Amino acid sequence: MTTIYLDNSATTPLSDAAREAIRETMDHYGNPSSLHAVGLAAEHIISRARTQIATALGVRNPAPGQLIFTACGTEANNTALLGTAYAKARREATRIVTTDSEHPSVENVLQKLESDGFEIVRISTRGGELDREAAMAALGEKTLLVTMMMVNNETGARYDIEPIFREAKRRNPNTITHCDAVQGFLKCKFTAQSLGADLISISGHKIHAPKGVGALYIDPALLRAKRIVPYLIGGGQENGLRSGTENTIGIAAFGAAAEDGFRHLDEHLTQMSELRSYAIERLSAEGFLLNLPSGACAPHIINLQLPAIKSETMLHFLSAQGICVSSGSACSSHAKHTSPSLAAFGLTAAQADSSLRVSLSPYSNREEIDALLDALTRGARTLVRMRRR
Ligand code: PLP
Repeated sequence: MTTIYLDNSATTPLSDAAREAIRETMDHYGNPSSLHAVGLAAEHIISRARTQIATALGVRNPAPGQLIFTACGTEANNTALLGTAYAKARREATRIVTTDSEHPSVENVLQKLESDGFEIVRISTRGGELDREAAMAALGEKTLLVTMMMVNNETGARYDIEPIFREAKRRNPNTITHCDAVQGFLKCKFTAQSLGADLISISGHKIHAPKGVGALYIDPALLRAKRIVPYLIGGGQENGLRSGTENTIGIAAFGAAAEDGFRHLDEHLTQMSELRSYAIERLSAEGFLLNLPSGACAPHIINLQLPAIKSETMLHFLSAQGICVSSGSACSSHAKHTSPSLAAFGLTAAQADSSLRVSLSPYSNREEIDALLDALTRGARTLVRMRRR
């Protein structure tokens, strides 16, 4: 049975570029902090990857500490939030403005900060659109940090965060801006400058690099002002901001995947957008309801509602036919509660529990969508019949 993998928001297979980088670097066992030739060779690999990823973020010649490697997107988010909240904060500014549909690696950290006395303002993203007025109203002198995701991992909504970041800075230049761009990197066109975020989190395994590597972009002015402190403490690697010996092989693959993805960005975005439109057209024609954001969308995510069938039941039916999709995000699929992102989108618990996420990559194709459609319609008939018995 061939596998049809349509769960690329959960993780992606390796690209050829990433695989080749792993092959080239797997025997470079040096510690990048060592001063001898073996160490320097590893350091050289990391430095190349840093430049490749910075270039994909529109940054030339990154300054020391401007892009630090982490173990994953979760760690990049934790570093951004805890690192700035606990930096010698101007204590009068304790408000953090965010959305009501952030990934748990942001939302759960904010809950911890809330219990430590920070005020968290969660802006509605109903229908996939950020409530701009409410966001603007929350900005000002008291705002320490604005943290907003670029693309929602469950609905694919591309939130209009740039005007919020800009206004946050205009009203209070000391407000720090952070973007979880894990689902947006190489899926949406942006640069660190166009985004206007001081901090940007990205993750390797969402862009066809292996798991175990992520990165945090840090605006040099924030570094100079010491407004971010490390949350992993040790040997002082990554400009003192992320201790721990770097994952040289993973970083090399991340760099290669980013360079390759950036080189083909236009082509990949067109392919995914066209395929997404094709899938939406076919799903609608078959009578499936779609949880479509009313505003802008990333080109790789489609969220649909099943007719009176739990998404998990359909997921198992599809999996038995070799088709991989997701019932919500991979991180929340272990959770027993209704997806907060889908609730924030405006779905009832029953609707959210019947929602399925299909996520594409530049390597997905129409035949795979046709096979999914075929299996979904068969599944819907079979499973509804079984329920009636
Ligand atoms: N942020 C978003 C929007 C995500 O979708 C994910 C992963 O699904 C993460 C953060 C966490 O990334 P990682 O799996 O690299 O920890």
